[in-house]
Amino acid sequence: MVSVQDAPSIYARDLERVRANHQSLSPLSFLDWAADVFGDRVGCVYGERRLTWRQIRARCRRLASALRRVGVRPGETVSVLLPNVPAMLEAHFGVPMAGAVLNAINYRLDAATVAFILDHAESKVLITDNAFAPVVRPALAKLGRHVLVVDAVDAEEDGPEPPGDPLGHLTYEELLDQGDPDASPILPADEWQPISLCYTSGTTGNPKGVVYHHRGAYLNALSNALLFGVRSDSVYLWTLPMFHCNGWTFTWAVTAVGGTHVCLRKVEPARIFPQIVAEKVTHLCGAPIVLNMLANGASEKLGRPVRVLTGGAAPPSAIIEAMEAKGFEVHHAYGLTEVYGPATYGVPQADWASLPVQDRAAKIARQGVRTPSMPEMQVADPVTMRPVPHDSATMGEIMLRGHTVMAGYLKNPKATAAAFAGDWYHTGDLAVVHPDGYVEVKDRAKDIIISGGENISSLEVEEVLYRHPAVLEAAVVACPDSHWGEVPCAFLTLKPDATEPTPAELTLWLKQNLASYKLPRRFVFGPLPKTSTGKVQKTELRERAASFG
Ligand code: ADP
Repeated sequence: MVSVQDAPSIYARDLERVRANHQSLSPLSFLDWAADVFGDRVGCVYGERRLTWRQIRARCRRLASALRRVGVRPGETVSVLLPNVPAMLEAHFGVPMAGAVLNAINYRLDAATVAFILDHAESKVLITDNAFAPVVRPALAKLGRHVLVVDAVDAEEDGPEPPGDPLGHLTYEELLDQGDPDASPILPADEWQPISLCYTSGTTGNPKGVVYHHRGAYLNALSNALLFGVRSDSVYLWTLPMFHCNGWTFTWAVTAVGGTHVCLRKVEPARIFPQIVAEKVTHLCGAPIVLNMLANGASEKLGRPVRVLTGGAAPPSAIIEAMEAKGFEVHHAYGLTEVYGPATYGVPQADWASLPVQDRAAKIARQGVRTPSMPEMQVADPVTMRPVPHDSATMGEIMLRGHTVMAGYLKNPKATAAAFAGDWYHTGDLAVVHPDGYVEVKDRAKDIIISGGENISSLEVEEVLYRHPAVLEAAVVACPDSHWGEVPCAFLTLKPDATEPTPAELTLWLKQNLASYKLPRRFVFGPLPKTSTGKVQKTELRERAASFG
């Protein structure tokens, strides 16, 4: 890298970074922009509630100043455990506007994990919702120290009366009443300062606290807005939990363009389709499991196209096709908590539009190319660090470098150093690169099946299984085998009215598209165990498969 400052250059002199020409990047500036430009326009919808951008800014300022009044200091953590309601969106601005760090907790976690997170993050305040009392009460008891608990009473859901046995020390509106709507926010002196703390799901040990900085949040939000095409006239439906990488940073991205956030408490087709029609939704995000639910949900074809961004797990192309048939335009991103959500994007090329739907779906199902905020990506051998050829066949690990990689893991320098070994962020995902430069994830390193010395991508077998007319969901894992070392074992759930195919029928079907060494040796029918972010728990399935061995 070249620095002109060190070279004998005419540009090395006199040109100073001063207040007039330099400010730390922070997504907090998006809120001011939306409120200044679209002050009277609705920025947030929740059921019957409508909040203009000016009202949202005033509420966020109140929240920030109230948090300071109750004793939150810059650099301290404020946790929120909330569904996708307006208070959750406001926390994405109000908490960092107090100089504090937002810790949005996954509401599907158990009490012990919530207690671990509150303890590890040293949270001073917890803003939550009465519906989560069965988890929050035991979590607080286990924590055994004082946290100011604020209950964001949900008038839409619980009725206008606060519940008889209040969960919090005060309600969210009482907290806001203590705040000043004109208070100036505390902006970060340095864009590297933390804005948010997101915990990984912790499938192997305690969850790790991933720290995001203002700069990364700002750049990832703008990159998402550009790629997904959200604009000031976009209406964004919150089908993706805001706790998941801050809603893949769309909390800030939709605000950056002054679009409209449509909050949604529960992700159910019965709530989603009416909202799409009533609010004229243009964009939404969701894991493939949500797309599967929408594609199989009883509904008419949409009257106009709605763009949906999927990611978080590999979307089978059969689901992409089924969504297109319902009138959705599917986009696809890949990423991890450590990289603010989306790090690669299946950027559509002009000629994809004229392809037959199955070919287009296959292109979209690939994880794609790096985003504008991720200047470097390589798929490389993790030992030699040598990049793989673009031959659609040689597998390597996806490694990333750039503006939107986490600052590191909180209070865990060892894990941070391991994640950044060799100056790359190691994703632990194995992929191939196609001649057009688009990557395709084949498996998480720990999920790949090695049979008789050959690698079998579980995703590739699942992709074919998803095309079977009776199959709703498929997960393929390794089963120990005395001869081959490992053989694939398929776990399946069937569509509601489907008859169970026999193993022989399934094998015959798979044989048309897969080499015989990739064929599952066993098919197991029943519900699939899922993580709290909707991913199939392959570790659990592997344990089950091991017991068949
Ligand atoms: P957790 O690790 O807690 O499940 P993350 O959201 O950080 O939560 O999960 C990241 C992992 O999810 C990636 O390492 C990858 O294995 C998988 N993943 C995310 N997006 C995709 C995608 N579009 N296609 C395939 N796998 C994906």
